[in-house]
Amino acid sequence: MSQNLKHFINGVPADASDGGRMRLLNPVDELEYATAAEGTAEDVQRAVAAASAQLNGGAWSTLDGAQRARLLIRLADLVERDTALLADMDAHAIGRSPIEPRMMDVPNAVANLRAAAGWANQLEGRTIPTAGYMGNKTLSYTVREPIGVVGAIVPWNSPLMITTWKLAALLAAGCTVVIKPAEETPQSALHLAALCKEAGFPDGVVNVVTGRGDVVGRALCEHPDVAKISFTGSPEAGRAIQRTAGAQFKRVTLELGGKSPQIVFDDAPFDEAVRGCALGIFVNQGQVCAAGSRILVQRKLARRFAAAMAEAAATIQVGDPREPGVQMGPLAKQQQFERVNRYIQAGLDEGAELLAGGVSHPTKGWFVKPTIFAGAHNGMTIAREEIFGPVGTIIAFDTEEEAIAIANDSDYGLAATLWTNDLARAHRVAHQVKVGAVGVNCWSPLDANLPWGGLKRSGIGREGGITGALAYTEEKVVTVLLPS
Ligand code: NAD
Repeated sequence: MSQNLKHFINGVPADASDGGRMRLLNPVDELEYATAAEGTAEDVQRAVAAASAQLNGGAWSTLDGAQRARLLIRLADLVERDTALLADMDAHAIGRSPIEPRMMDVPNAVANLRAAAGWANQLEGRTIPTAGYMGNKTLSYTVREPIGVVGAIVPWNSPLMITTWKLAALLAAGCTVVIKPAEETPQSALHLAALCKEAGFPDGVVNVVTGRGDVVGRALCEHPDVAKISFTGSPEAGRAIQRTAGAQFKRVTLELGGKSPQIVFDDAPFDEAVRGCALGIFVNQGQVCAAGSRILVQRKLARRFAAAMAEAAATIQVGDPREPGVQMGPLAKQQQFERVNRYIQAGLDEGAELLAGGVSHPTKGWFVKPTIFAGAHNGMTIAREEIFGPVGTIIAFDTEEEAIAIANDSDYGLAATLWTNDLARAHRVAHQVKVGAVGVNCWSPLDANLPWGGLKRSGIGREGGITGALAYTEEKVVTVLLPS
C-alpha cells in the first residue's frame, strides 16, 4: 500500500500548503510505493519560523552544551535502535542493497551523532593577547555562538548519513534546522525528525520540508532568516545555490561531486588494490561522490590489473537487491539510467576499450551493468566528467610525476586513493594530490572525527570532526578595558 508522507514542521506532520504531492517510485519495478508532500515557499516559511522561534527565546536557546550533548546521545541511541528500519528506507528508495546502509551509512550516522555530542561542550573560545587600548590594558576573548537557522539540502545517494553530517554538527553548535531531503528520499529524514522529538529535542529545532529543489531548496536559499545553507549535491545545483544564498551573504558549505583518482603503483599489494578499486567504483552502484572513477595504473601492471578489474565487474550479481546473493541493484532513477548509458556510449565513441559491462537497454527497473574501460586517456569525456554510476576508467601511466599530473588534471578535487608498499612514496604523493582526502592502501574512510570536503568543483568547506561543528558557529570577540 502506498504511504502518504508529510512534512515535519514544529514537531508535527504537515501537508503542503496547497495540498500538492509527489510520487516516489521503486527503482526495481518502477511502481509507486509512496507519495510525499510537495512543499511550497509557504511551507518553508512556516518551518523557518519554527526554527527561528527556538533560537530566539525558545527552550532550545536556553540549553548549554552539556544538555545538547545529552539529547544528541539519546538521538544516537534511537537511530541505532532503528538501524534496520532506516537502512531499509534508504535502500528501498534508491534500489540499493540494505546490507550497505546497515553496515556503513547507519553506523556512520550514529557515530556522527555521538561524536557531535562530544563537541557540543567543547566549542571553546580563546583569550588573545593584544596591544591594549589607548594606553590601557585590555582583555580580549572570543566566544562561539550558533550561526542561526540552517537550511540543510541533501542528495539521494546516502540520505541518512549525509543528513547526519549536517544535523549532528549543527545541533552540537546550538543551531536549528530545516532539512530539505532529495525528492527521491524523504523517508529517512522524516523518521530522523520524529526520533529527534522522541529524544526530547524541543519542537521546531529540527524540521523537514519535502519537495523540489527549485521550489523548497530555492525558498530556503532566499529566506532572510536562514543564516547558512549546507548543501550536498551536484556542482550545477551548488552553483545556483551559491548565487542565491551569496546575494544575501549567507554562509554556504558545498559538498559537490568528484572524479576521484585511484592510483595503483607497480609495487602495490595487487589483490588488495583490485578489491579496493572495485569497492571504490562499484559500491552503491557507483552513485558515490568519492567514487574512484579514474583508475590510474602504472604501465607494467596495467594490462593485468585491467583484466582483474574486468573480472571483478563481471562477477557482480546485478538484480533485485532484496533477493539473496544480489550484490548490485538498479540505479536510483530513470534520469540516472539515461545519464550513465550516455557516458558509456561516449566512452565507446571516443575509442576506450570496453572490458566489462557496456550500454544497458531499458527493461523493467533501471539496471546497468558494472562497466570497466581500459586504454583510456585523461582527455576523454569518461575521464573528465562525473558519471555517478558503476563505470571505472583505467588509464596507464609511466612515472610517479605523471600519475600526480594526471590525478591533478581534473576540474574536481574530492578524494584520492593510493596503492603502494613504498611508505615514502605514499606520503610524497599524498601531499601532492590536490584533493580533500587521501586513502593510502584503503578507500578514503568515512569517520565521524575526520573532516570531509573538496577543492575546486568538488566544493567549499568541510563537514565532520570539530571542523564541521565549528562551521556552524560564528566567532565573536569581546574586549574589556582594564584601567590601571
Ligand atoms: P542535485 O544537486 O540534483 O540535488 C541535491 C539536492 O539539491 C536535492 O535535495 C535537490 O532537490 C536540491 N536542489 C536541486 N537544485 C536546487 C536548487 N536550484 N536550489 C536548491 N536546492 C536544489 O544532486 P543529486 O543528483 O541529488 O546528487 C548527486 C550529486 O551529489 C553528485 O554530483 C554527487 O557527487 C554529489 N554528492 C556529493 C557528496 C559530497 O560529500 N561531496 C556526497 C554525496 C553526493
